[in-house]
Amino acid sequence: STPAYDPSNIFAKILKGEIPSHKLYEDDDTVAFMDVMPQAPGHLLVIPKQGSRNLLDADPAVLSKLMPVVQKLANAAKTAFAADGVFIAQFNEPAAGQTVFHLHFHVIPRHEGQPLKP
Ligand code: 5GP
Repeated sequence: STPAYDPSNIFAKILKGEIPSHKLYEDDDTVAFMDVMPQAPGHLLVIPKQGSRNLLDADPAVLSKLMPVVQKLANAAKTAFAADGVFIAQFNEPAAGQTVFHLHFHVIPRHEGQPLKP
């Protein structure tokens, strides 16, 4: 089963204001900010305020509030960066590429013919 949530992760510190972020959006349940190492211009992250390690242990009620924000910011980023499409990514556990253990959705504007950085 999924390991317990560790509240010392870096996104928990961003939520508490203990480390800085370029915040784009906030409501009672959700925050969005720029990824510090963007895979493409406009790469942002959407996270719930409630702590879960990843999607596997998330409360569906939290997801139901989070996903409309992912959708809203995907559209906003697509417009702001004049993108052709938007890549949404989300990783669960190290074997799948997860490095920060607070649930987050990547929102990455994509342009025709411009590959993601490795
Ligand atoms: P993942 O866990 O989905 O593989 O990746 C975590 C993402 O968080 C990476 O894209 C990484 O660049 C981003 N990230 C890691 N540390 C920080 C940070 O301190 N601030 C911000 N804004 N993003 C971070």
